[in-house]
Amino acid sequence: MSTLLQKPGKLGLSDKPQSRKGTYFVQTWGCQMNEEDSEQMALALEKIGLKPAASILEAQVILLNTCSVRRKPEDKAFSLLGQLAIMKKTKQDLVIGVCGCMAQVRAKEIRQRNPHVDFVLGTGDLSQVGGLVEDAIQTRRFQKRLDLPERKGVLVDDVPQRLLNRPTKIKSYVPIQYGCDKFCTFCIVPTTRGRERSRSTADIIEEVTSLAANGTKEVTLLGQTVNSYGKNLVEGRVPFSKLLRQLDQVDGLERIRYMSPYPRDFKTDLIETIRDCPKVMEHVHMPLQGGHDELLKRMHRVYTVDGFLKIVEELRETIPGVGLTTDIIVGFPEETEEEFQGTLDMIEKVRFDGAYMFIYSVRPGTPAADMQQIPMPIKKDRLRRLMDLQNRITQEINDTYIGKTLEVLIEGTSARDQNMLQGYSREFKMVHFPGSADRAGRIANVQVTGSHLWGLSGELA
Ligand code: SF4
Repeated sequence: MSTLLQKPGKLGLSDKPQSRKGTYFVQTWGCQMNEEDSEQMALALEKIGLKPAASILEAQVILLNTCSVRRKPEDKAFSLLGQLAIMKKTKQDLVIGVCGCMAQVRAKEIRQRNPHVDFVLGTGDLSQVGGLVEDAIQTRRFQKRLDLPERKGVLVDDVPQRLLNRPTKIKSYVPIQYGCDKFCTFCIVPTTRGRERSRSTADIIEEVTSLAANGTKEVTLLGQTVNSYGKNLVEGRVPFSKLLRQLDQVDGLERIRYMSPYPRDFKTDLIETIRDCPKVMEHVHMPLQGGHDELLKRMHRVYTVDGFLKIVEELRETIPGVGLTTDIIVGFPEETEEEFQGTLDMIEKVRFDGAYMFIYSVRPGTPAADMQQIPMPIKKDRLRRLMDLQNRITQEINDTYIGKTLEVLIEGTSARDQNMLQGYSREFKMVHFPGSADRAGRIANVQVTGSHLWGLSGELA
């Protein structure tokens, strides 16, 4: 078996692996939304009596929760499916389901290339996973569920019913908005996840209140364009800033984060809400993607370089010390050296604390796939130049934290050193400092004594 199959991956939600009979394994690729979806799927499987398997090799039910945002995770999913075909020959009762974004857009191909797959389940309603597994065990007939709400703004009752009996976690994800209406030319998400729709404010508050009552200290609100939340709700439009202000009142909750906002919708009311609400963290992850107006136009990102800079200026004026991170794509089709230079200039001007930097990946079915592509050596060279610049800036910014005291939510011990605790500051700096594991879940004041590219080190103040 390959190394991928031997990797433990995601076990499930209970601590102890159970016997082989009736066990499941969920392999996840992709974003936080997918991680959260996998958690919901695991809960749905536990509801029908399955238990987490110790490894993928021992599971009776294997779910692949896939990602289509770049080509690499799709290749990995197909590669794993090839290995599972061999496994299924010797283990006939194995149930294999392919779920999520790739299932939504490539169901036919998945089935054709992998007749050993029992079902494909798109992103529309993951709560169907339990029924699909039961059907597969009983009937062995291939099934697919790919329904997505087609109408813009259709909402609330099409959103999967959330399960509230989750195990206690210090940090939890809470999806508040599904799908996307922005149609960036490089992105497959509007196709894989459908049109934008929001959960009701009351449901979100109920869920966050329940999580906080059960020990969650920090929630991260998820949405493809999270700050466009609240359009077309039955109770009327609810601005994202209003939702944040309401969540700020939830007892027991210490911190609220959210991702990812869309720049055009980042307005003064939201900036003032971050300033006014102590539980809303002073960190904004705002995807820039490209730093030249022509580039942004081809990407169909509906803002300009100047517009982005104005938001940054207002953020920094209103919330001094706010942490700023971003996403950048290099090698977008037809990107000229001048346009790329524009991106480098923006990195210099904004001085983000950090950036996720990617080489553009062709997504069949998107408008950018038909544009003129940039040769890979140029893409790689641009990525290297961009990373060199951003890494230098990140290190310079991190150095300025030495001597400061930061408020850190302790998440637990470091994987490398059990005597070191780790957690994020309000500005989203990863901080390591000595301490004992029983402090997990508490907020600590940590004096920063050292800095490196990936974060800070310090001592309890
Ligand atoms: S805003 Fe653009 S990049 Fe983000 S999910 Fe929507 S289409 Fe994709």
